[in-house]
Amino acid sequence: MKIQFLGAARTVTGSCYLIEACGARFCVDCGMHQGNKAIEARNRDEKNYDAGNLDFVLITHAHIDHSGLLPLLVKQGFSKPAYCTRPTAELLDIMLQDSAHIQEMEAQWQLKKYDRRGLKNPPQALYGMADAQKAITYLSPVEYHKSFEPVPGIRVTYYDAGHILGSGTLRLEVDEDGKTTSIIFSGDIGRPHALIVRDPETPPLADYIFMESTYGDRNHKNESLSVEELAEAVAYSYGKGEKVIIPAFAVERTQEVLFCLFKLHEAGKLPAEMPIYVDSPMAIRATEVFGRNTDVFDDEAKALLTNKDAHHFMGRVRYTPSAAESMQINSTSGPAIIISASGMCNAGRIRHHLKHNIWRPGASIVFVGYQAMGTPGRKLVEKAKKITLFGEDMDVAARIFTINGFSGHAGQSQLLDWLAPLMENRPQVVLVHGESTAQETLAGLIKERFNATPLIPDYMEEMTLEGKNVAQTVLHEQKARPRVNWPFLTGEVERKWGMFKDKLAEVESLPWESQTELQEALAKMDYAMTRLLSRM
Ligand SMILES: [Zn+2]
Ligand SMILES: [Zn+2]
Repeated sequence: MKIQFLGAARTVTGSCYLIEACGARFCVDCGMHQGNKAIEARNRDEKNYDAGNLDFVLITHAHIDHSGLLPLLVKQGFSKPAYCTRPTAELLDIMLQDSAHIQEMEAQWQLKKYDRRGLKNPPQALYGMADAQKAITYLSPVEYHKSFEPVPGIRVTYYDAGHILGSGTLRLEVDEDGKTTSIIFSGDIGRPHALIVRDPETPPLADYIFMESTYGDRNHKNESLSVEELAEAVAYSYGKGEKVIIPAFAVERTQEVLFCLFKLHEAGKLPAEMPIYVDSPMAIRATEVFGRNTDVFDDEAKALLTNKDAHHFMGRVRYTPSAAESMQINSTSGPAIIISASGMCNAGRIRHHLKHNIWRPGASIVFVGYQAMGTPGRKLVEKAKKITLFGEDMDVAARIFTINGFSGHAGQSQLLDWLAPLMENRPQVVLVHGESTAQETLAGLIKERFNATPLIPDYMEEMTLEGKNVAQTVLHEQKARPRVNWPFLTGEVERKWGMFKDKLAEVESLPWESQTELQEALAKMDYAMTRLLSRM
C-alpha cells in the first residue's frame, strides 16, 4: 500500500492523503491550501491528484482545509462517490458553494487588476459554482460506527472526532496479499467537553495512526468556558442601553454562542428586552443544519434542547438573511445581541456592526475565537485604541471581551490522552496537520511517554506501508521546499540600490515638489524595510 501526503505536512492546511491499495486510488480529505502565496500555489498542483483516476474520496469533516478542493477534483474529472457523514454532507452543501463564490469573486478582482495594469492571462478561478454544485451531488452520506466497503478489500468506519458537527476519525482495514493492515486517520481531534458535539472517540487499535498535531506544543490556557464573562458583557451593555457584538465563524462557533446564550436565558441573566440576532446568511443556514442533526449532539446539548425553555429561547432569536434586514438592526436603538461573521472581522457584515458600535461607550465586542495576525479582530483583542474600518479611522470606545475555552481542537495533553489507549499494540505514529515546531514537540513527548518514534512527513512525501513497517519513503524535496534564491534576490536589491544612489545627484537638482514626491516614495521603502527586519 502506498500513501502520499498532498497537504497538511509540516503545515496545517490542505489536508489530503492520496492512497493506492487493493488496486484502487483514493483520497482521505482533499483540503484547500491556505496561507501565503507559495503555500496557496499548491492548490494549482492539480496533476498531483490525477482526479479522473480516483476511485473514491473519504472526507473527515466540512472545514475547507479538509474538503475545499473537492470541486476542483470534479472540475478535473472526478465523478465517483465522496463519502462523509450526513451532517458533513449538509454542511458541505453550504460551504463548498460559499468557497466557489469566494473563488469566483477573487478571480474577478484579479481580472480587474490585470486589466488596469494592461497585463494578460489573469489567473482563472480555482473552480466555480457549477463545479461546487456538481461536487455536492457526489457526496455519499455514511453512518458513524457502520463499516462500509467502497471497493472490495477496503473497509472504512467513521468514529466521532468531536471537532465540529459531523466530524470523523476514520479507521480503515485494507486486505492485501492475505494480510490486513489497519490505519487510523484522526482528522481534526476535538476538545473533550465541547458545547454541542460529543467527546472525541478513540477507535479500536490499528497498525498505523496518522494524527493531527495542531496544538502539539501547547495546552489551551483558560480551558473552562466562562459563560460568566458573556453574562458580564450582556449586563454591561444592557445597563448602558447599548449592543453586544459577537464576531463568530458561521459553523459551530455561532451555534455554540447560541447555546451559551440559552444557558444565560435559563439562569435569568438575559434581559427579555434584549433581542438576539444571527446576522450572517451562512451562519443561518449552518444553524438549520444543526437543527436537523441533533441526534449527533452530546447528552448535555440534547437535554438542553428538550428543556421546556428551549422553545421560548428559540423564539427570541431573530434571523436576518437579507441585507435590508441586516441594516435594519443598526437603525434600531436600544440593547441587542448581534452574532455575525466573519469571526476575525476582516470581511462580511460584522464590519458594519463594528462601524456602528465600536465608538459607542457602553457597547461590547465579545471575541470567542482565534484572531490571526493582521486581522482587525487581533488588533482589538490587543487593545488597539483606534481601528480602520472602510478606510475610516475610528476610536475604540466599546469594551472588548475575549472569551477562551471555545477551541475546536484538542490541546497538547488532550492529544496525548487521545493517543494513549492506541499505543497498546505499538503502532507507527505519523504526525500531520501541524507547524513544524508543534510537531517536533509532540513527537518528543510521544517518544518520552510511549517510547515510540513518530514520523513527520513532508509535502509530497510517499510512504510504502508493508505490514507494520514503512518499507520505503520517497521524498520530493524540490517540490516540498523549492529553494529560496536569496543570493539572486539580495543581488537584485543591491543592484537597484546602487542605481538609485548614482541618480541621487540628479534628484537634488529637481524642483522641490518633485523631490518631496521621491522622498515620500523612499520613506515608504524604508518603512517596508523596517517591517521586513522586524520579521527576521
Ligand atoms: Zn477542522
Ligand atoms: Zn484542520
